[in-house]
Amino acid sequence: MDLRDKTINKLEHNRYDVLIIGGGINGAVAAASLAARGGQVALVDKGDFACLTSQNSSNLVWGGIKYMESFEFPLVRKLCKSRNHLLRSYPSAIKEIRFYTNLDRGFRHSSHILYFASLLYWGIGNFITRAPRFLTPLQINQEEPLVNTNNSIGGVEYSDAYLYDNDARFVFNFIGSALDNNCEAVNYVESLGSKQNTNGEWLTKLRNNRSNEEFEIHSKIVINACGPYVDQQNQLSDQTTLHHHVFSKGIHLIVPKITENERVLTFFADDGRLFFVIPMGGRTMIGTTDTRVSSPDTKVTPEDRQFVLDNINKRLDLPQPLNEGDIISERCGVRPLVVATGEKNNSDEDWTKLSRKHEIDVNYEKRHISIFGGKLTDCINVGEEICETVKQLGLSLPKQNHKWYGEPDEKIHDEYLNNVHSIKLDELTSIGASEALSTRLWRRYGTQAFGLLENIRENRDIAEPLIEGTDYVRCELTEAAEREMIVTLEDFLRRRSKLALVTRHEDLKNSQGLKEACEILFGEEAPQRWEEYFGERF
Ligand SMILES: Cc1cc2nc3c(=O)[nH]c(=O)nc-3n(C[C@H](O)[C@H](O)[C@H](O)COP(=O)(O)OP(=O)(O)OC[C@H]3O[C@@H](n4cnc5c(N)ncnc54)[C@H](O)[C@@H]3O)c2cc1C
Repeated sequence: MDLRDKTINKLEHNRYDVLIIGGGINGAVAAASLAARGGQVALVDKGDFACLTSQNSSNLVWGGIKYMESFEFPLVRKLCKSRNHLLRSYPSAIKEIRFYTNLDRGFRHSSHILYFASLLYWGIGNFITRAPRFLTPLQINQEEPLVNTNNSIGGVEYSDAYLYDNDARFVFNFIGSALDNNCEAVNYVESLGSKQNTNGEWLTKLRNNRSNEEFEIHSKIVINACGPYVDQQNQLSDQTTLHHHVFSKGIHLIVPKITENERVLTFFADDGRLFFVIPMGGRTMIGTTDTRVSSPDTKVTPEDRQFVLDNINKRLDLPQPLNEGDIISERCGVRPLVVATGEKNNSDEDWTKLSRKHEIDVNYEKRHISIFGGKLTDCINVGEEICETVKQLGLSLPKQNHKWYGEPDEKIHDEYLNNVHSIKLDELTSIGASEALSTRLWRRYGTQAFGLLENIRENRDIAEPLIEGTDYVRCELTEAAEREMIVTLEDFLRRRSKLALVTRHEDLKNSQGLKEACEILFGEEAPQRWEEYFGERF
């Protein structure tokens, strides 16, 4: 029996303090925080963990500089503090990055005002990042000749942060830490709604979406963390809430790397909104859009694609304008934005002013919690607030003050580096790679990386790259097969790794290494999983 089957078996037979429905960032931090503090926790996701909004973000951990324009200083302060907290807690996964902003003539503010705002932003963020810099058009030209400065009135460089790997991997690491603390978390299990019995216990009907079998799970508390589907789930469970969601669609295109400088190029798009060119490994991610939609089920349309390409081609002096043929992959998601129930948000102005904050609605009588809105940047606050809320609902968490987030401390990292040194790992594996293997293993696997080092000590071959054109090594696949609940090839290519984002579909299909990886991940089911993803024979 594999990890997933074992977990489903336990869900059917055990009783839980808390059931969390939804394994995006909000559900994942709820599970990680509650499990680390001693709660008996179960989590289900109808698809893979982080398969919805949390795999389609801009990967930015930012203090919300744009809310300065609407004078929402308390929100900016809160987001800056969250950003700082994440930067300190995840030194290898979250990095400071410079935002390099060019302003064109006719923009609603002068470059001096923007510089002043960036100084204020720096101060609101406690000056923990590098200082902002004023940029003249000439400087922009010299430092980033790619930027079209024909119309420039100068610009500003300031700092925020970003997720070095990708959002879905960041989310999975919270799921992994919840699993390590005895949470039963399982993917491809859908909630069909919850009902309370006469003892006040919740019974939630679940369906295993791989086998179509249905079963029930018992819990004292239910947390609805379904992201864009929170309202729909509440309807199924007969819950009325103070808030609900409206949706804003955002897309990104991933194209070959367009600048060697590791910074985010920032512009204001034709619709006046912030528009980014963001490094993604050996590629560049461009976006995003902000379109009001009525349903969470969306996809990239030809108009979205054209909007992004037109805007970027207008603002960069590329040797050849980017066109559809340059697109390696696309991302598309909806931001679940919180509005008070009954409030109307009809005008475009109301729409753009809708805040990206989160709200936690609690039904104290029924012991039901719904998480609305939020950002990846706010995730530690959400985890902490959920712990507080379940305590208010009468659940005692035995390890109240246990720290549930962050990378292992410096002493453990030093010990790891000593081990790396003793087996001469980087001397043998760094040639030609984008970063040292040991750095990547630590960032992705934390303390599990010690085990990987031991395995490499015994057999160096497993530190060799397996999939052509990528730096994924053989021992990572074995680790992923055992611990990462990978059910489909897409789970691996799109979320545990970002290979499907940075590698063309055709190249993956022709990769002999990926076939071998598929065998490590799925054993005798490899041909089915391959066919499911590529639509052709193994
Ligand atoms: C274009 C875009 C750019 C963004 N950029 C940033 C950024 O740079 N920085 C930042 O901090 N934030 C950003 N965000 C916001 C951030 O991505 C979201 O706020 C966050 O990912 C929402 O997480 P969630 O857990 O609420 O929802 P989701 O990630 O959508 O998770 C909900 C989960 O619930 C599951 N589910 C739904 N129904 C059921 C059911 N019945 N049973 C079981 N499971 C169910 C789904 O499968 C899904 O996995 C961006 C968002 C978008 C769309």
